[in-house]
Amino acid sequence: MASEQEKIVYLDNNATTAVAPEVVEAMRPYFEAKYWNPSSMYAPALALAREIDGARELVAERLGADYPDEIIFTSCATESNNAALVGGLKGAVKADPKRNKIVTTKVEHPAVLEVCKQLEKEGCDVSYVGVDSDGNINIREFVQALEPGRTAVVSVMHANNETGVIFPIEKLSRIVKQTDPKIAFHVDATQSVTKLPIDLGRIDPSGGLSGAFGHVDMLSFSGHKIHAPKGVGALYLRRGTAFERFLIGGHQERGRRAGTENVPYIMGLAKALDLEADGLFERGARMEAMRDRLQASLEERIPWIVVNGKNAPRTPNTLNIAVYGAEGEAILMLTSERGVCVSSGSACTSGSLEPSHVLVAMNVPSGALQGNFRFSLSRYTTDEEIDRAIDVFAEAVALARERSCKWDSAKGEPIA
Ligand code: PLP
Repeated sequence: MASEQEKIVYLDNNATTAVAPEVVEAMRPYFEAKYWNPSSMYAPALALAREIDGARELVAERLGADYPDEIIFTSCATESNNAALVGGLKGAVKADPKRNKIVTTKVEHPAVLEVCKQLEKEGCDVSYVGVDSDGNINIREFVQALEPGRTAVVSVMHANNETGVIFPIEKLSRIVKQTDPKIAFHVDATQSVTKLPIDLGRIDPSGGLSGAFGHVDMLSFSGHKIHAPKGVGALYLRRGTAFERFLIGGHQERGRRAGTENVPYIMGLAKALDLEADGLFERGARMEAMRDRLQASLEERIPWIVVNGKNAPRTPNTLNIAVYGAEGEAILMLTSERGVCVSSGSACTSGSLEPSHVLVAMNVPSGALQGNFRFSLSRYTTDEEIDRAIDVFAEAVALARERSCKWDSAKGEPIA
C-alpha cells in the first residue's frame, strides 16, 4: 500500500485536473467581497457584470473568436454539448422543418452520444460515422452521411478522451460547408482546449477566412479539464448560428442560457485559459516527450501490450494501452495500491458491463478489450512520476499475469 505520506502519482488528467493555485487566487475575491448578483442594478453589481464581460473577452480572445458575445458560460461540457445539439437542432428545425438530421461519430463522449440517442427517440434522424483501427474518422462515410437540405447539425469531437486521437476539424468543417453552408458544425473540444491550437476567427482584413476553425459554428469545453474547477464550462456560438436556448428562465447570457452566473468559477475559467494560453507548444512538447517515454518503456518492459491509436495523430498527453493475458481489475488494483492513479476501461471497474464503445468502434480484438488503461498527463506531471508509473505498472502487470488463468507463464503468452 502507498503510505499516506507517499505522494500519489496522478495520471488521470483526462478525467479531471488539479485546480491551479493561480486560479484559486483569482476566484477568491468573488467568494468573499464580490458576492453580488451580476443582474442586480446597484453599482457594485453593475461593476461585477462588467468583470464577467472582461472574462468573456479574455476567453474569446484565447479561442480566436471574432466577438466576445459568442461565448456563453455554462456549468460543464456536458451542458454545452446538450445545448449545442438540442439548441442547434431546434433552431434549424424552426427555420426549416425538413432539417431534422444530425451527423456524429461512433466514438463521441456520452455527453454527445446519449443526447443523439434521445433525439433519435424523439424523431430526429442520426448517422453515426465509424473509425478505422487507429481511431481515424472514415471520411467517405462522413461525406455520405451529410445530406444537403436535411442535415441540421454535425457534431464531431476534436480529440478523443480515451485514446487522444485527433480528428481533422479543419478538413471536416470545410467538407460540411462545401456540402451545405447552412449545416451547423459543432466541435466537442473538451480534451483539446489548451492542448491543441484553436482559432475560431473568421474576420480577416484581407477578406479571406483566417482561423483554421473558421468554419466551426459551435464549440464546447469544460473548466475542470484545464485546471479550473468542476462546475463551469463554455459554449462558443458563432453569431448568426440558428439556436434555441437550452436552459430556460431568466435573461442571463444575453437570453441564451438562464441561471444566475457562477461568478467565481467563470473568473477561474478565464484565468485558467489565460494561464495555459502561453507556451502551448513548449508545454505540449514536454508532455509529449514524457508520454512517448512512458509508451516506449512500457512497450519494452511488458510483452503482449498494444498501444491504441498509435499510428494516428494524438494529443500530447494521452496514452491508451491494451494488456493481453490478465484481468484489468487486478492490474488496476495493484497499480492503485502502489499509489499510481490511471484510468481503466475494463468492464467491471468502469461500472459497466459493456467494453469501451471507442475501442469496439476501433475493432480492438476482444482479448484486449477487458484490460485497457489510459494514462493522461498534465502540465504538472514530472519525469520522476513517469519513472514511478513505469515501474509500478510493469510490476502490476507481471503480478496480475502470474495470478491469472488467462496467462501461460511457461510460454510467456496469453492463453488463446
Ligand atoms: N466531452 C468529452 C470529450 C469529455 O472528455 C468529457 C469529460 O470527460 C465531457 C465531454 C464531459 O465533460 P464535463 O464533465 O465537463 O461535463
